[in-house]
Amino acid sequence: MKKFISYYKPHWKLFVIDMICSFLISLCTFAYPFVTEVIMDKENIKAGKFDLILLFCGLLVLIYIIKAILNYVVQYWGHILGVRIQADMRKELFEHLQSLPFSYFDENKTGTIMSRIINDLMDIAELAHHGPEGIFLSIFSIIAATIYLSIRVNPLLAILLCMIIPFVLVFAIVRRKKMKAAFKKMREETGEINARVESSVAGIRVTKAYTASKDEIRKFNESNKAFQKARAKAYHEMGVFNSGMGLFTDIFNAIALVGGALLLYVGLNENINLNINLGFNIGINEAQLTAYLLSASMIINPIRTLISIFEQIQNGMTGFARFTEIINMKPEKEAENPVHVEGLKEEIRFDKVYFKYSEEENPDWILNGLDLSIKKGKTVALVGPSGGGKTTICHLIPRFYEVSDGAIYFDNVDVRDISFNSLRKTIGIVAQDVFLFTGTIKENIAYGKLDATDEEIIEAAIRANIHDFITGLPEGYNTFIGERGVKLSGGQKQRLSIARAFLKNPEILILDEATSALDNITEMQIQQSLESLSKGRTTIVVAHRLSTVKNADEIIVIDKTGIVERGNHFELIKTNGIYANLYQYQFKE
Ligand code: ADP
Ligand code: MG
Repeated sequence: MKKFISYYKPHWKLFVIDMICSFLISLCTFAYPFVTEVIMDKENIKAGKFDLILLFCGLLVLIYIIKAILNYVVQYWGHILGVRIQADMRKELFEHLQSLPFSYFDENKTGTIMSRIINDLMDIAELAHHGPEGIFLSIFSIIAATIYLSIRVNPLLAILLCMIIPFVLVFAIVRRKKMKAAFKKMREETGEINARVESSVAGIRVTKAYTASKDEIRKFNESNKAFQKARAKAYHEMGVFNSGMGLFTDIFNAIALVGGALLLYVGLNENINLNINLGFNIGINEAQLTAYLLSASMIINPIRTLISIFEQIQNGMTGFARFTEIINMKPEKEAENPVHVEGLKEEIRFDKVYFKYSEEENPDWILNGLDLSIKKGKTVALVGPSGGGKTTICHLIPRFYEVSDGAIYFDNVDVRDISFNSLRKTIGIVAQDVFLFTGTIKENIAYGKLDATDEEIIEAAIRANIHDFITGLPEGYNTFIGERGVKLSGGQKQRLSIARAFLKNPEILILDEATSALDNITEMQIQQSLESLSKGRTTIVVAHRLSTVKNADEIIVIDKTGIVERGNHFELIKTNGIYANLYQYQFKE
C-alpha cells in the first residue's frame, strides 16, 4: 500500500484537483433530495408557490451544469493521472529489467514479462485513478447521506439504514480472499498464453519446416483452455461476490421502504402516542418520506459503486503485486565502491573457479575448480566437446553470471569489485548466436559504439568483410533487416556482429565460435580480419575448426571434467593426446 501511494507523490496536484472535483460532484448530488423536500412540501404546494418551485428547479439545473463540467474534469484529468502513474511504473519496471542478471532471463519467458509490462500495468492505471476517488466518494456519500437523514428527516431511519453496512462488510471481507486468489491465477494464465503466442510466432519457421502446426495448435489450445478455466473461476468468484452484494442492497431497499412507511404512518396519525420521548418527532410527513427515499438511494448507490470498483481494485492490486514481484528481484549487484578499470594491464586469472547454473544443493558443476591465466596481449584458445563449458567461461569474464566459488581476477582485482560499465566496456564478444535488433544494418553495427560516425561504421564493415554486400543492397546501410535479422543469411548476420565488435574496438576480445556460421572462403577472409583485430589485444577464442586456433599462444582443451590438456599447437601435437587426434582427423578431412 505504502509503495502504491508513493506513486501519487509526483502527481499530487493533479490528484488533489481530481479529488476536489469529485468531492464537489457528490455535493451537487445532494441538491436533489434537498430541493425535492422543498418542492414536495405540502404547505408550499397548497399555497401554490410556483415561483419558489421554479426558482429551486432553476437552481437545480444550474447545479447540474456545474456538475457536468466537473465530471468532464474528473473524466479527463483523472484518467490522465492514471496514465501518468502507469507510465512512471512502466519506466521503473523497464529500467529494472535492464538491470536484472542473465539468470533472470534464463528463467522467465519473454511473453510473461511482456504481459506484466503491458496488461498488468493497464489495470493499475485504472485503479490508480478510480480507486481512491471511488472509495473516498462512496464513503463520503454514505456518511453525508446519513447525517442529512438524521438532521433533516429522522435519525431512526438513518440508524436503520446503517445497520445493513456491517453485514455487507463482513461478506466482502470473507469473499475477498477467494476472489484475490482467483484473480492472481488468471493473471498468471494470461502471462502464460502470451508467452505461448510469443514463442510460437517466433518459432513459426521451425514449425512449418517440421510441419508441426497441429502440435503447436494443440499446445496453444491447452494454454487457451487453462486461461479460459482461470478466467471462469475468477468470474465465478466475482459473480458470487457481486450477486451477494446485490442481494444485500436489494434487501436494504425493502427494509428502507418498510421503515419509511411505518414512520409515515406514525406521522400521519397524530392520535398515536408511542409514549417514548427521543427528543425529536418520530413520525415523518410525505415530503420527508420522499427526501428519505431519495437519500436512501444515496447510501445504496455508493455501496453499489464500492462493489463495482471492487473488481478494479482486485485487478489492479494483483497486477501491482506482480509488478512489485519483479521490482523486488535483485538486480546485478555492483560493489559498494566499484573500481573503474582502464583496460587490462597484466592478466585475467581464474582462481579455483567453481560454477553451476542451478541453485540446487548437489548440482553437477559446470566448472570444477578451474585455474586459468590469460596474459595481456596473448591469444588463448578453448577447444573441446560441446557442452564442456567454454561459453560459460566466456560469460563469466564480463560477470554475466556470478561464480559459485573461487574468484576471477582482473589484474588482481576481483571482477566482483569492478564496475559493470568499465568491465564490460573493455570486453567485446562475438558469439555463435548473433542477436540483431529489428532495425537497419547501420543501427545494428552502431550498437558497438552508439555515437559512431558513418565513416567509423563503414570502416568497421569493411574490416568485417561485409561492406561490399551492404553497398550492393538497394538501400545500403539503411536496409531494414527484419525482425532479428531474418532477411539476412547466417554468415551475413555473423559478419554484422563482427563489424559491431570492430567498431567497439575492445581491449579484450572474446570470439565464441564467431566464424562457425561462415563458409570456408569467407572464414579465411574473416580470419585475417579477426587476426588483425586481435593483434595486441587479449583474445579468447573458442573454435571447433582447429585451423583457426593453431596460432594461439595457448590452447586449452576442456571437457566435462575440466582442463585436460594445455600448451601451444606444437606442444600439444607432440603430446599426441586429444588435441593431436582431433587435429589429425580434421587435417585428413
Ligand atoms: P560449450 O560452450 O562448451 O559448448 P556451455 O558453456 O554452453 O558449453 O555449456 C556448459 C553446460 O552448461 C552445458 O551442459 C549446458 O547444458 C549448461 N548450460 C549452459 N547455459 C546454461 C544456462 N543458461 N542455464 C543452465 N544451464 C546451462
Ligand atoms: Mg558454446
